Amino acid sequence: MSGFDLDKAIMKFAQQFVEMMSNDNNDEELADPSKWVKHKDDKENIKRAIDHFFYARKVRYVELKSVTAGELKSSEKATEFIEKGNKQFKKENSWKDSLELYTQGVMHAPPNSHALARAYANRSAALSDGGLYDDVILDIGRALEIGYPDDLKPKLWMRRAMCSLLLNRTLNPDAQKDLVDASNLLAELNSNDNEYVNEIMNKKLSTISSMKTPHEKIDYEIFLPKIVKENTKLMGVTDAVELQYSEKYGRQVVATRDIKAGEAIYVHKAYASIIESTVAHKYCWHCSKQVWAGVPCHQCVSVIYCNEKCRDEAWQEYHDIECLIIPQFIRLKGVVDLGTAGPLALKITAKVFKEAGSLEKLKEKIDELNTKQGDNITKCFSGDVFDSMKYEAVYSLSRLAKIEILSSASVFILFCFAANTEIFGKKYGEIDKFEKNKWMIFMGALIMRHLDICISNSKRDYMKDEDRKEVIRGTEMFPFFSLINNNCDPNVVDYHSGNVSAMITLQQIKKGEQIFISYQPPYWSSSPRERKASLLKYFNFDCDCTACKNEWDVQSINSFPSGELDLPLSIKKKLDYFQDKSNLGQSVTATSTVINYLQKISLSMELMNLHQEDMEYPTQEMMELKLITTSLYKNCTL
Ligand SMILES: [Zn+2]
Ligand SMILES: [Zn+2]
Ligand SMILES: [Zn+2]
Repeated sequence: MSGFDLDKAIMKFAQQFVEMMSNDNNDEELADPSKWVKHKDDKENIKRAIDHFFYARKVRYVELKSVTAGELKSSEKATEFIEKGNKQFKKENSWKDSLELYTQGVMHAPPNSHALARAYANRSAALSDGGLYDDVILDIGRALEIGYPDDLKPKLWMRRAMCSLLLNRTLNPDAQKDLVDASNLLAELNSNDNEYVNEIMNKKLSTISSMKTPHEKIDYEIFLPKIVKENTKLMGVTDAVELQYSEKYGRQVVATRDIKAGEAIYVHKAYASIIESTVAHKYCWHCSKQVWAGVPCHQCVSVIYCNEKCRDEAWQEYHDIECLIIPQFIRLKGVVDLGTAGPLALKITAKVFKEAGSLEKLKEKIDELNTKQGDNITKCFSGDVFDSMKYEAVYSLSRLAKIEILSSASVFILFCFAANTEIFGKKYGEIDKFEKNKWMIFMGALIMRHLDICISNSKRDYMKDEDRKEVIRGTEMFPFFSLINNNCDPNVVDYHSGNVSAMITLQQIKKGEQIFISYQPPYWSSSPRERKASLLKYFNFDCDCTACKNEWDVQSINSFPSGELDLPLSIKKKLDYFQDKSNLGQSVTATSTVINYLQKISLSMELMNLHQEDMEYPTQEMMELKLITTSLYKNCTL
């Protein structure tokens, strides 16, 4: 790609899009998308957006393919990352930083290349410094399988043997073989000077005493609650709630019996999820879990997977279609203002296309959904049930976004599909030719709908990284979560591990009451004015929840009645325990703290239940407990 600056070309293309939107034309209707009223029919919306695109014509002669083609794997680029990683690795306590750089080397190296073997081999050294010995063994296996220079092999064999020794505490046959192989090859390379070989090997092996004890990886799934009894109509949801419909809220989730604090409302996987580009080398593109020794996509440079299984599943389900489009999308962020809704809509479109198998079948499916009979609730059911893992649940989600945001972005995604995939029968290099494809409007309209759904319903993942810094990991689509309405004093907390999300009650909920989350930070961490303004701006409603009507903020907690007087001494003591904030704990980073955390969570819930038996909601103590439980769950996400 020498002489052609891909980044520049893409930025130019994107800017032309934006310019077009403000282009002076004599056709007023077409010229100004901000004046467009959203048509009920998606097809009419996309037709107008495409017409507008061709009308403006400025980019008509741009070759689609050259600006929408993905960044290719390159040994040079990979080597750059590896060299940077080596530099970093020499510094003290920098295994994590070098690990990240080596992983980027892994992502950029062509399949089976020397650069890839080198990236794996060097990463194994960083992993070894971090005490991640299982991962060292994996990476060394990968490096050796691809082919690694003979003179460097003994080092890898010895490293692997030592890690295996530290993990298993005995010299198992694999480790023995590694040491024999290392010794034989060293002898061969050093004209059978056995004394010299022994010296090198002993020197290396003696470093084992300074190696860390194996790093404990915490499986955060342990914090996912269990549903006591599952709903027969709502998959992955408790039988203590049902879906109802009201004029004010639309679809709503309502308790069908009294629910105690600490019960699980739902636990299920995301229909689709994406990882933020800034942390794309740290979390699995398929299951969203943290990755230490990840494997790359064979084709693109944008994603990493936990292992070969996640990579294969992703490829089967959607990634072969989205693979070469994702990078452009990430780069366009900020030019066409989409945030992460763009890549998520792209993934959903790829996924549903793969599920259907062909454009004909996909159209049949969409036609069927559009003409489906049923009330406001059963319309989103698959057969007799609401299943968050099924496309029906996604397709029915509400949509709010403004048409001018959707137009340029939808047309751009559509052209990316045309230029980089064969879903339209072949790859289209030029826009003019694609214009005649009979599926253009259908797919454009579907993409526009997905984009609209993603902007209005996707959920961003705020979490702590391994250094306990707050990061946004990615964006996910949980159809059931999207059915839950807003209250700035939420009665549930949500928790996620990988791409599995759960919702747990923070307080007792009476039969007939609605389940509420807060779309903006809850009243105890926001000002009434700010949150009301954001709700109006992003969700288009004027919040009239109790917290907003009474203008609650964190200070308001002190004005609630205190229930402490009515509490038995034993409970008071437990409350005191929590009132000392140092007992809340800062983070869950070691297995030993997991049990402790689980105990704290259940204690907090137990206190809430005891307290709510006698007292009218809200009291100071109840609010404190809600805050405590929320922060406990926040501290154990990774
Ligand atoms: Zn994974
Ligand atoms: Zn890929
Ligand atoms: Zn409110």
